[in-house]
Amino acid sequence: MDANEINGVFQELSGIPADPPVKREQCYRCRRPLTVCWCPFLPREPLQVKCSIVILQHPGEEKRCLRTAPMLEYSLPKENFFLFRGRRFSSGTIQGHVASARLQQCTFTKNLFPLALK
Ligand SMILES: [Zn+2]
Repeated sequence: MDANEINGVFQELSGIPADPPVKREQCYRCRRPLTVCWCPFLPREPLQVKCSIVILQHPGEEKRCLRTAPMLEYSLPKENFFLFRGRRFSSGTIQGHVASARLQQCTFTKNLFPLALK
């Protein structure tokens, strides 16, 4: 590398801003950028439902910006929504959570995704 190339590298480096880039403003609730915040479209009061929803979420999904699990969390009564994060869920673990969550009172359970094997 000759002197001109080295000088060019230093000039390029000096052009890099010292401060981190300004992030878009985020909604304090859904943590999405304000331009795509879905909070105004959520029900003002939690929806009254006759079922409970249990979500088993991989930890990597929490960082994804779609954030559909919180959408459910903010729309359903706390006693009807359960979110468990983890990489593996043993049936004993889930049953323990389910029992502690009073879901055993449900008369039926449906697995919506992934589809249950027939
Ligand atoms: Zn929001």
